[in-house]
Amino acid sequence: MKVMVMPRVNLHDFVPRSRANGPGERAVVWVQGCPRRCPGCFNPETLPFVTKNWVTVDDLESRILAQNNIDGVTFSGGEPFAHAQALAELAKKLRKYGLTVVCYTGYTLKQLKAGNREDWNALLSEVDLLIDGPFIQEQRCHEPYRGSANQILHLLTDRIRLEEVHGQSQTAEFTLGAGGDIQQTGFPELPDMDAVMGEISGILKQTGGSK
Ligand code: SF4
Repeated sequence: MKVMVMPRVNLHDFVPRSRANGPGERAVVWVQGCPRRCPGCFNPETLPFVTKNWVTVDDLESRILAQNNIDGVTFSGGEPFAHAQALAELAKKLRKYGLTVVCYTGYTLKQLKAGNREDWNALLSEVDLLIDGPFIQEQRCHEPYRGSANQILHLLTDRIRLEEVHGQSQTAEFTLGAGGDIQQTGFPELPDMDAVMGEISGILKQTGGSK
């Protein structure tokens, strides 16, 4: 008897629509778990390989396709290549609908190719724009879509155009959840982000936008 296993993603977080995580408007999938420990990592809570929220690839596909007029999806983390098989399947499904795939990774493209792993190759073959390399605090930069100067934007297909990537600026984005929670993504370069978040919360309380 053949047993079919439904591919699943250990999801740290999901935003249906963002302009701060790649060109155009994109859904963003943050996976839970990364084998690296880069000093100054933007998302330290995504690093442990603990169960966060297992969701099926079909479920994520439906959530993303429910968005109107988005350009694609961005995989971030955590380390997307530590979750490569499930993300490759998700990417394959979404690309059939014309959506593009952006993927962050702490590995370099060279390391991924040299690894020659079946799951890595499967994901690589579905990625249009790969942003590679670990975050290096000493090389922190202000270029679009990358945190440090060592990271490189690789256009692996012609489905995302060079002019969509260049000439952009780093963006921090704040999303207000249904419960009044504020989610912040992108590349915060403000000197005191806690104070900014406090100020936004205060304004929302005054205007009745938060409980
Ligand atoms: S690879 Fe990315 S997610 Fe992992 S520790 Fe480094 S910066 Fe953080």
